[in-house]
Amino acid sequence: MWLKLKKQLRQWSGLLITAPSVTGLVIAANYLGIFQLLEWATFDQFLRLRPAAPVDRRIVIITIDESDIAKAKQWPISDAVLAQLIKTINSQKPKAIGLDIYRDLPVPPGNSELVKVFESTPNLIGVEKRVGNTVAPPPALSKLGQVGIADLVLDTDGKVRRGLLSVKIADGEISLSLGAKLALMYLEKKGIYLQEIDEKEKHLQLGKAVVIPFTGSQGPYTRANAGGYQIILNYRGTINNFDTLSMTEVLTNQIPPDKFRDRIVLIGHIGTSFNDLFFTPYSSSLFSSPQRMPGVVIHANITSQIISAAQGEYPFFQVLSPQMEVLWVLFWSLFGGGTSWSLRQINYQRNQLILPDLLLSFIGIFNGGIILLFGSYLAFLNGWLLPVVLPLTALIFSAIASMIYRHLELQHLVNFDGLTQVANRRYFDEFLQHQWAVMGRKISFISLIICDVDYFKFYNDTYGHQAGDECLRQVASAIATEIGSTDLVARYGGEEFAVIMPNANPEVALKVAKRITANVKSLQMVHKNSLVSDRITLSCGVASIVPNSTVSVSELINHADKALYEAKQQGRDRIIVAIIQENKKY
Ligand code: GH3
Ligand code: MG
Ligand code: MG
Repeated sequence: MWLKLKKQLRQWSGLLITAPSVTGLVIAANYLGIFQLLEWATFDQFLRLRPAAPVDRRIVIITIDESDIAKAKQWPISDAVLAQLIKTINSQKPKAIGLDIYRDLPVPPGNSELVKVFESTPNLIGVEKRVGNTVAPPPALSKLGQVGIADLVLDTDGKVRRGLLSVKIADGEISLSLGAKLALMYLEKKGIYLQEIDEKEKHLQLGKAVVIPFTGSQGPYTRANAGGYQIILNYRGTINNFDTLSMTEVLTNQIPPDKFRDRIVLIGHIGTSFNDLFFTPYSSSLFSSPQRMPGVVIHANITSQIISAAQGEYPFFQVLSPQMEVLWVLFWSLFGGGTSWSLRQINYQRNQLILPDLLLSFIGIFNGGIILLFGSYLAFLNGWLLPVVLPLTALIFSAIASMIYRHLELQHLVNFDGLTQVANRRYFDEFLQHQWAVMGRKISFISLIICDVDYFKFYNDTYGHQAGDECLRQVASAIATEIGSTDLVARYGGEEFAVIMPNANPEVALKVAKRITANVKSLQMVHKNSLVSDRITLSCGVASIVPNSTVSVSELINHADKALYEAKQQGRDRIIVAIIQENKKY
């Protein structure tokens, strides 16, 4: 059972190493904001893909565009016209009126009239701008506390994806945004009030909704400015999702009966010349130029979102905790690596359908990617904002990493000896051929040391084959620690090891051979039946040649072999250096 588990673990070890590493890297890259734009693009796409919500009958937008101005014959529209507009709307008893028009200064004629209307319309909310270039509220409304903040929060790509509920102003007082104020006014008349349920975390209860402030790094966001009390805006839609009426229609009394009764009425500019248009997720489209959304429609969306959430119609977006986001990415990383890993496994085992690893990884990525995108979209439809690009990247890189890992593993199997973990004979030959050619060009020495364990047969006979194996492992690593970084140690035969040393003359090679034999001795491996010592010892043959056209690589091996034979002949536990005459003709 334990062994089986161990075997399984070894088989999957590549994945267990690559997937968490990829997750770590992707999360670090995300911290740098690399995926921000792509996450936003995915969010925007999901929002546009979502089936359109029905028109919000609770809100009417009174639009003012260039043609309304032309009819009013004055810009900005005069206080008299505005007073007339508000009076007409209020005559139908709406629940709240939001005047999304800055009116910090009088616009004659009719200022005293407008002030009177302001003072006599308790369900009217005016606007001020608090951040950046501030704009003061209408003084009369300000005195009555009937002002909301009209600031919008722009992402660094210029789009509005968040809604401001409130900001703290200088003296610690909290100022509500226009959208929040209108929604709360509407809900209060239905007996729904805002309650704080967690003071520290600023969690609020509003009817059926729990409001949780935006933290800056969640869902599609990384380290965004989370100033004030913000939410990620669950847009109802564009201006088409709201009831609208033009200012001219209201002023000329072309109003259907009870059009405004018990509703929220928002008044604002929508024309392109008023400088109150913003990019939103609805702005991008492949096939047309980007459409901007009037500020008043964004405020209507904020209002609509708050009321809908409070009434349990459609929720505030929910996000994962930072820890859960890491697990989410790790899951897809494992999924991506795991599918391509298993596909490869099946492919090798069945052996019928030999598909290249690259194709198998691609299949794994494609399947995983589809499931991830589809799953995230379903979650989105249910109000969950999950990171998408982050796990997708982890999935892709995990599949690729597991493929590379597998490739390196195979490479290792091909080139290295399973018992001693030094190069095998195949790699020895390849390396020697290559270095021989390089040293030939450089006219530089190449040295070869062949070492053989003395009386190793006796060792096996005395201590058993397994002890023999362990001895070989230790000898191999003792040799490996004594050689330079450009040298190679290989298992040359059963208990024979060879060291290839490019750029090493006979003196250097002898020095290394001495270090190797000394190091093996220092292991103090008891070998009581050895005829030369009571410890494990080596005999080594050393040969060095500057390759040229008159000698071949096999000369080098022959000389080292003969030197080793000589070392054995002379009694073992010693090093013999082959004497090779320069340019000797064979
Ligand atoms: P000499 O001093 O002349 O080298 O004597 P020797 O006994 O070392 O030489 P010989 O070539 O007669 O024996 C080599 C032995 O090494 C025989 C073989 O069983 C053992 N051997 C070869 N490969 C392995 C291995 O992978 N594991 C173990 N345990 N023994 C091995
Ligand atoms: Mg031997
Ligand atoms: Mg031998």
